[in-house]
Amino acid sequence: MRATPALPADDIAEVLIDAAAIQAKVGELGARISADYRGRDLALVSILKGSLPFLADLMRRIEVPLSVDFMEVSSYGATTESSGVVRIVKDIANSVEGRDVLVVEDIVDTGNTLAFVLEHLRSQRPSSVRLCTLLDKPARRVVPIEIDYRGFEIPDRFVVGYGLDFAERYRNLPFIGVLRPEVYRSAM
Ligand code: 5GP
Repeated sequence: MRATPALPADDIAEVLIDAAAIQAKVGELGARISADYRGRDLALVSILKGSLPFLADLMRRIEVPLSVDFMEVSSYGATTESSGVVRIVKDIANSVEGRDVLVVEDIVDTGNTLAFVLEHLRSQRPSSVRLCTLLDKPARRVVPIEIDYRGFEIPDRFVVGYGLDFAERYRNLPFIGVLRPEVYRSAM
């Protein structure tokens, strides 16, 4: 097998949030969530696939009993623009009726995805529904979304890494970086 570079660093214009800053923030969020959900019935619902590293790190910093479930929805294809059309690819496997749902998401951009997901989950009569997102890009918001736990507010740049992809690549980067525009321009 030929050796390939571990990180496609040439495609990254700038590291926006490094791995240490991400882990420090995840620790803070985990501590707040642990305090808020003591004595509750916490059900984490993570949105695949971008939230996977965030969920994996966050759940290990939460010190109260919890369950984990997954939804997968489609909004972006191999472009950097949201279509506004959201479709359920995979629904949660277990009922959340009467439980305290915390949605774990990688990024809130236009808000279309979360508006759809939150409404879908609320229709299943949970006791409560809150939202935890690692990244918030408020400049692009189309639908207002209440964020209960926010990691970082970021500017209107297309980012990859720590779960976030472009055309399924870059999810394995340990940091959040800005992709060089040439990379996605040449793919369109
Ligand atoms: P929204 O529906 O809020 O516009 O977008 C939510 C989804 O769009 C996210 O879960 C993520 O998959 C994708 N997304 C939004 N902004 C970015 C970005 O800057 N980089 C990447 N890789 N995905 C993004």
